[in-house]
Amino acid sequence: MPASANCVEQQELRDLPARGWSRAAMLFKRALLLRCPQCGGRGVFAHPWSMRDCCPICGYIFASEDGYFLGAYAINLVVAEVIGLGAVLVFLFRSDLSLVWQQVIAITAAILLPVLFYPWSRTFWMAIDLSTAGDKDIEQIQAHLINSRGSDTGTSQQ
Ligand SMILES: [Zn+2]
Repeated sequence: MPASANCVEQQELRDLPARGWSRAAMLFKRALLLRCPQCGGRGVFAHPWSMRDCCPICGYIFASEDGYFLGAYAINLVVAEVIGLGAVLVFLFRSDLSLVWQQVIAITAAILLPVLFYPWSRTFWMAIDLSTAGDKDIEQIQAHLINSRGSDTGTSQQ
């Protein structure tokens, strides 16, 4: 089922500033709190590792195109593995722990940090994307997405 089938657009509930620093500040605050970038509503994630297709309050479709969240994986890699694991390794090298414990902690951190940061990588990616695009751009993308998904469902059923 296409994402747009369950998504009811309610643009009157969106209160994101059209442009400027206030837009970026609001977007990053909402990303930090795991809220919808457009309306600030809760429920972006069905559970911490499963993002909904659209906001349950304002109907904003989170992925504006296939592969949209590829940038979120890059953010997750940089934050979790480079910064997060880097900090853990610096701590371990300065500690008096045995080599075995250092390896156990480093491997555990390498596995857990990207898993724990996953939800924020997605909301921060949306914040970065939307802070560089104005509302008009987003509306055009969403309209194109709904139209293309509507025509896909008509032709893909065989
Ligand atoms: Zn919303």
